[in-house]
This record gives sequence, C-alpha cells and structure tokens, in this order.
Amino acid sequence: MTTPKKILATRIFPEAGIQLLKDEGFSVTVWDKNRLMTQQELVENAENHNALFCTLTDKIDKEFLEQCNHLEIISQFGVGFDNIDIDEATRLEIPVGNTPDVLSEATADIAFGLMIATSRKMFYLHKSIERGEWKYFTPNAHLGIELKNKTLGIFGLGRIGLEMGRRCKGAYNMNIIYHNRTRNLLAEEELGARFVSFDELLAQSDVLSAHCALTDETKGIFNKEAFELMKPTSIFINTARGAVHNEADLIDALQSQRIWGTGLDVTNPEPMHPDNPLLSMENVSVLPHIGSGNEETRAKMSLLAAQNIIGFYKHNRVPHLVNPRAI
Ligand code: NAP
Repeated sequence: MTTPKKILATRIFPEAGIQLLKDEGFSVTVWDKNRLMTQQELVENAENHNALFCTLTDKIDKEFLEQCNHLEIISQFGVGFDNIDIDEATRLEIPVGNTPDVLSEATADIAFGLMIATSRKMFYLHKSIERGEWKYFTPNAHLGIELKNKTLGIFGLGRIGLEMGRRCKGAYNMNIIYHNRTRNLLAEEELGARFVSFDELLAQSDVLSAHCALTDETKGIFNKEAFELMKPTSIFINTARGAVHNEADLIDALQSQRIWGTGLDVTNPEPMHPDNPLLSMENVSVLPHIGSGNEETRAKMSLLAAQNIIGFYKHNRVPHLVNPRAI
C-alpha cells in the first residue's frame, strides 16, 4: 500500500485486532472517549476514513450509508449485524464482515448461566442478602425448579444454540426441541434434537431459549400471544437480541404467572432502566448484554474483525462476509 488505508474504530476495542491492523500498515483512529459517538459525530468521523471497525451500538442505517457511501468495507465486531442496513450496504457495494463462531461458547455460557440462575432465583436471593433478609434457614421459601430431564426449546438452533444444547444435554440430560426456518440435521444427530413448529416449541418447552438473529421475522416474536402458549412453569431465556421479545408483554406474562421466570442478557430497550419491574421480580435474572464478554473471546473477535479488513485490502477476500453480493 502506498498511502495507508484509514480505519475508524468506533470504540476502544480489545487491542489485539487494532495492533494487528497497525502491524499490517493501516492507520487506525480510535474513538477513545468514554461515551458513544452521536450520529453526527459518526458521520463526521467516518467521512475521512476508508473503513469502519464498528459494533452493535453504531447505527449504520440507510441515511448514514448514503452520507458515507465512500466507505470501502464495514467490519462489525460481533456476529449479529442488525444495526447495519445490509441491503443498502450491498446496493452501495460495501462489503460487511462479522465475527461468527469465536463467541458461540461464551454466549452459550451466559444463556446456560441465566437458565440456572433463574431456575434457582439466584440474582433475587443475592439481593435479598444485601437487604438484610437472610435471617435463618427456611425449608420451604424461595424454592426453585429442577432442570434435570426437562425439555429445552431452542428458537434458532445455529452456532450459539448448538452450544447451549450441548451444555443442557451434558449437564441435565435435557430433551431438546427446536424451531428454525430450515432443519439443522447435524444438531438433530448430535443432540437428538427434534424439529417442531413454533407453536409446539412454545407449548412443550420447560426452558425456551432464543438464539436467532434479529430480523423483520423475529422482531417481537415473543409477545403476548406467544407467552400465552407457554407452560406456566416455563422459563424464557433471551441472549439473542432484546427486540426479539416484547418487554411489556414479558412483564405482563410474569406478573400474571403465564410463565414462571425469565433470564435476559439482552433487553428492550438497552440499557434497561434501573426502575424496570423485572429487576425486582423473584424469578428474573438480567445481565447487561455481556454474552461474548470474556477476555479470550473478545480478543478473538477483535482479531477476526481486523482480519476481515486485512483480507479485503490485501487478499481481495473478506474471510467472514455477510453480504457476498456486495463484491
Ligand atoms: P446463527 O448460527 O446464524 O444461528 C441463528 C439461528 O437462527 C439459525 O439457526 C437460523 O436458522 C435461526 N433463525 C433465523 N431466522 C429465523 C426465523 N425467522 N425463525 C426461526 N429461526 C430463525 O447465529 P449465531 O452465531 O448462533 O448467533 C445468533 C444471534 O445471537 C446473533 O444474530 C446475535 O444477534 C446474537 N448474539 C448475542 C450475543 C450477546 O452478547 N448476547 C452474542 C453473540 C450473538 P434458519 O436460517 O434455518 O432459520
């Protein structure tokens, strides 16, 4: 390269990928302020860069892309890309890369952890100690529910869903059912997972865990009608995207005991307001969108996001390309 390509990193990302880009001769600008860029700042900063190294909090919508149609590649730090208007990026022939696989186990750990925490009311009981409510051992208070041999329903049995299924099968011998648009024959063979309709998934799951991408089809799919079809003893887990569930309907389903509990790593909206009634409910566990958040995973994501940019400029190939029609 004669003039180094200029990459805008929209946040302080794990150093591994940023260093790799610098080692490969790229010029990297990092937005290092302790706040998100406003949309205007995002446009202004992107204007004099060739590529974006961005993440889910960056709104890469049609308007942004029209203003920044000079961008040569957008590399998303994350597997989900619902913050990016992929159709518009494709129309403008801007390739979009993402970071699949490396975060599947970490994210499934959080889904699995939320399932256990919810089934035994761990978050609530932790807070009850802080409130000075632990007086003595009580044989029949705050009882949870057993997971062994129960039915796990997976909505979106892909990479992360498979890891969740492996954990639940191995730890609790759970019976696994799932719903996708297409059957996952590998998972059926490995986990004995059974493909069911969406309504069957709702009706039969003891734990229903969402692992789909957020799309027009999945937006708000866990709503009042869906919760009404679930067992009153069931737990709803969401580590996919907050907009996959309707939060008012979820609160209602819990308050009216239509379902038993919920474990959320993603909320709707994000961040969740500290006064949200979910936070004071006994059978609820909430985390602040931390699915992929361990040191090793985040470093691998940073490297993959960098490799997508390097591959594009140096080898004419984006290793993890979301929109092949853009090239
Ligand atoms: P993946 O391998 O593509 O799996 C997604 C699954 O969802 C696929 O099996 C897909 O199957 C299914 N699906 C998509 N649309 C569907 C629909 N309309 N109805 C039913 N099933 C549908 O993706 P992944 O790597 O497992 O990641 C899944 C999602 O997890 C990401 O998109 C991201 O939003 C989220 N995520 C969250 C965190 C976090 O921090 N909490 C971390 C990583 C990822 P079909 O195509 O056959 O329908």
